[in-house]
Amino acid sequence: MGKSYMAEPYKIKVVEKIGVTTREQREEAIKKAGYNTFLLDSQDVYIDLLTDSGTNAMSDDQWAGLMKGDEAYAGSKNFKTLKNAVQDLMGFEYVVPTHQGRGAENILSQITIKEGDYVPGNMYFTTTRAHQEMNGATFRDVVIDEAHDSTYEHPFKGNVDLDKYQALIDEVGADKIPYICLAVTVNLAGGQPVSMENIKAVAEISRKNGILVMMDCTRFVENAAFIKEREEGYQDKSIKEIVKEMFSYADGATMSGKKDGLVNIGGFLALNDPDLYTKATALVVVFEGMPSYGGMTGRDMEAIAIGLYESCEYNYISHRLEQVRYLGKKLEEAGVPIVKPIGGHAVFLDAKEFYDHIPQDEFPAQTLAANLYVESGVRSMERGIVSAGRNKEGNHYYPKLELVRLTIPRRVYTYAHLDVVADSVIELYKNRKNAKGLKFVYEPPVLRFFTARFELLK
Ligand SMILES: *Cc1c(COP(=O)(O)O)cnc(C)c1O
Repeated sequence: MGKSYMAEPYKIKVVEKIGVTTREQREEAIKKAGYNTFLLDSQDVYIDLLTDSGTNAMSDDQWAGLMKGDEAYAGSKNFKTLKNAVQDLMGFEYVVPTHQGRGAENILSQITIKEGDYVPGNMYFTTTRAHQEMNGATFRDVVIDEAHDSTYEHPFKGNVDLDKYQALIDEVGADKIPYICLAVTVNLAGGQPVSMENIKAVAEISRKNGILVMMDCTRFVENAAFIKEREEGYQDKSIKEIVKEMFSYADGATMSGKKDGLVNIGGFLALNDPDLYTKATALVVVFEGMPSYGGMTGRDMEAIAIGLYESCEYNYISHRLEQVRYLGKKLEEAGVPIVKPIGGHAVFLDAKEFYDHIPQDEFPAQTLAANLYVESGVRSMERGIVSAGRNKEGNHYYPKLELVRLTIPRRVYTYAHLDVVADSVIELYKNRKNAKGLKFVYEPPVLRFFTARFELLK
C-alpha cells in the first residue's frame, strides 16, 4: 500500500479520453445550460462529479459477465444468478429486478401505502419521497437532529432518532405507518452511516408496532464499511458478515445497482414476505417487465450480481472510502467549509457557509456548482433548496443543509484528478465574496432540480 494514501487496488485496462475546455467555452456552456449542471453536455465536462450513480467502472469480470447474457423473455438464467447473489449476500428471499432504484421505490410505495398514511425516514431522498407522496403518504423525517448540522462530528450521523420515531407512532397510530424507510447510508446528510445498534433498535420498535422495515440500501456496502471502522465489536468482522447482519433486521429493501451494485443501470426490490412479493410481481409486469427480468437485460443482471460481490471486497471498499476522505481532508485543511464527518460517496461543500452573503432563496449551492464548473470544468450537484422542492402549499422547503455534492464515481478517477478538484474549490473559496446568486427562469413542478433553468442575478 502507498505511504500517504492507499493506492488503487486495480489497474487500468481501458481508457476513455475526457474533454478539455477553455474558461470562455465553459462560461458559454453553463449559460446555455441555464446554470444547471444537470443540463451540461458531458463532452464539456472535464471531471464529472455530478453523481456516483451509474458512473461506475465495471471490472473485466463484469464485462465478461455481459457475454453470458441469457436474453430469454422468461426464466433467464441470469435472474437466478442475481437472485442467488441477493439471497447469499443480503439474505432476502425474493427479488424483483427493476430498471433502477426508483423503479423499486415505485412498486414498494404502491403495494404498501394507502392514502393518508405516513412514511418515516432518516432524512428524505428525492425520488423516494416523490413516490411516497404520489401514493398519498406524508413523509416524516426522523433522523437525529445532528444530521442537519453540517459541522457536528458524529460517527453515525444517519441514525434514526428513536424518540422522534416513537412520537410519530403515538401521534398518528401504527396502522397509519406501513413501513419505515431506513436509508443506509443517508445520501442527503452527506453519505452518513447508520450504526448496527440503531438499525437493531429501529427494527425492535417496528416489530413491536407491526411496521415494516424497508431499507433504501443503495449504498449498503459503504454503510457496512463505516460500521467496521467505527462500531464497537465489528472491527474483526468481514464486510460480508456485517452486510448480512444489517439486512437481517429488515423486511425488504430497494436497491439502486447504479451505486454499490457497481454497474451502470439496474436495481431491484428485495422482499421476504410471499404476499408482498406476489403483489410486487403483479405490478412489475405493468411498469417494468416480466418478474424474471423486470427492467433489466439478462446481461445486466449478470453484471450486477458480480458487482455486488466485488463491492463487498474489503480492498475495494476501503480504498473507496479513503479516496473520498483524501479530497475532503485537502479541502478541510484549506479552511473550506465541508460537511463533517466526511461521508461515504462524496464530499459535500457547505454552500450556506461558503457563500454566506447569498440568501438561501437565491440558491447559494446552485451558484457554487455553476461557478465550480466555470473555474475548472468540474461538474458537481446542488443538494439544497432547489433539490428540496416545494411543499403542498407551494412554498419552498428551506432545508437546513444547503450543499454542493462532489460525488466520486467508483473506480473511475485517480488521486491526481482529486487534486485538480481540490485546487479549484480552494481558488473559488479565496474569491468567494465576488459571487452573485441566481433566479429561476423555468421551474418544473416535480423534481425540479433535474431540469430547472436559472439566470444570474445582477
Ligand atoms: C440513487 C438513489 C435512489 C434512486 O435510485 P435510481 O437508481 O437513481 O433510480 C434512491 N435512494 C438513494 C439514497 C439514492 O442515492
